[in-house]
Parts: sequence; structure tokens; C-alpha cells
Amino acid sequence: MKLMRSETFTHKDKQYELRLYADGWRFTVQSFHNGERADGYSHSVDLPTAFDLQQAKNTDAIAVLFESAKNEIREENWERHVKGYLESLHLTEEQSIGCQKCTNRDIDITKVDGRKMYRCKTCGNVWYEPRKTTGATETFLDDITEGVISKGFYDIATVILLNMVFREGGRSPSFHDQLDNWCNQNWLRYETYVEVKKKKEEEILHFTRRLK
Ligand SMILES: [Zn+2]
Repeated sequence: MKLMRSETFTHKDKQYELRLYADGWRFTVQSFHNGERADGYSHSVDLPTAFDLQQAKNTDAIAVLFESAKNEIREENWERHVKGYLESLHLTEEQSIGCQKCTNRDIDITKVDGRKMYRCKTCGNVWYEPRKTTGATETFLDDITEGVISKGFYDIATVILLNMVFREGGRSPSFHDQLDNWCNQNWLRYETYVEVKKKKEEEILHFTRRLK
């Protein structure tokens, strides 16, 4: 999904950001507050492929989505219909979380690289809490974890991780020990292969999901 445009909107002194995402000709507007989803509503339209994708974001069809998202906030539908219901159940975080893939509720919650990681014990699905702030190291690591989630694998040159993330030195654990430990925490596994580019050989790490 590609972010096409965003606009801000104020309701009861709270500032919201409405973001328009595109996935082919499917356009979706979602509302955010302080960088996190303001509610669970998504407003989507599948436009005919005759629409010009660059122009589509400024059409009336898209304006309707923005208006619907604003109305949801103005009418406080999320607060009235969902939040109150959840609060009435008095659930702990563990009890309230379900796997998006298999809907099972047996979820392991751990903390990895400064944020929560969720893992479904039934199907092995892994996901993470969104970061509020990030740093250089996290950016490299998140590219791997997010890549495995979205594509099923992620490839990166060994030397990049060695230089940028899992540095060796003094009496600290070796590069491979640090890498193995990080993979175990994130339920990942890796294989290495050698890529030849301009007659130069480079070792590549190929990350995939570990199920057991
Ligand atoms: Zn699952």
C-alpha cells in the first residue's frame, strides 16, 4: 500500500491525520492520532481501471472517503460502539489479542529490540507493535522483520549487518552469536549464499520465518 496523500483535521481540540493509501486501483482512507490509528474504520473504494492513478487522488470519489472518515470521528462512532464494549469486558492485553491469520487467541507476547512482539502459538504468525521512535539499528532490523512478514523472506549482505548492527569487538559475543540470538528472539532463521556482482563475491544472508 502506497501513501498517496494526507490531510489534517481537528475535532474537539484533537488533531487527526487522514491518510489515503493506494493498492492498485483500491483507495483506502484511515484516520490517525499521534501517529497511531485513531479508530478501526477503513474507508475504501475500488475505482475502475480507466481512472488515471496519478489523478485519482484528487477526484470526487476519493473526497467521499475523506468525508466518511471525518464523519466517523465527528460522530465518535468508535468510542460509542467499540471502546465502551471493550472496556466492559475488562480484558487484559493477552486476552484481547487475536491472531489476524487464524483468529486464535493463544498469543505469546515478548519484548524484542525495544518493542512488543506477538506470536500466534497456533499458526506461528508473528507481528509487532508499531514503533513510536526509531534509530539506525532498528531501521536495519525492522527491514528484515517486516520484509519476512510481507514477502516471506529478506536478503541482506552479511557485511552490512556486521558493520551496522551486530558489531564485534573486545569480549562481546561474536557476530554469529549475536545474529543467532536475534534470530531466535524474532522467530527467524537464515541461510547464507554467495552473490557474484562485477566479479566480486559477496555473502548474503537469506532470512525466513522459523516455525519451531
Ligand atoms: Zn494464528
